[in-house]
Amino acid sequence: MHELSLCDSIARAVIQNAQGRRVTSVRLRVGALRQVVPETLVYCWSIASRGPILDGSVLEVEHVPAEIECGDCGTRSELSRFNLSCPNCGNQDVKVVSGEEMLIESIEVADDAEPPDPLPAAPESGSATTAVH
Ligand SMILES: [Zn+2]
Repeated sequence: MHELSLCDSIARAVIQNAQGRRVTSVRLRVGALRQVVPETLVYCWSIASRGPILDGSVLEVEHVPAEIECGDCGTRSELSRFNLSCPNCGNQDVKVVSGEEMLIESIEVADDAEPPDPLPAAPESGSATTAVH
């Protein structure tokens, strides 16, 4: 499944950025041209996010509409499947300026993110008492 391998690579990138902190949510921008189904992506995330860092985290998918820009008058408009020309002047020399993105916009980590540093209580017992002979 396309979305699952996507989620795997997202998960890897998020884990790298989390630096050991527990992640609560991930915000992802996905362009309309990516042909990704957000619901499927969220479902796959529940599979890909298993593990101590990502467990229980939420994937928020922000849909970015595809936009075209007219090469003539510079008008930007939302790309329509049925109309590949400028709505302002009718020019067909348009280029796609957004809709191809797929990027992690932000990551939220748990507030209680005191690093679970394994600071063991210093073993004070021993040294002071063994001196008694
Ligand atoms: Zn135009």
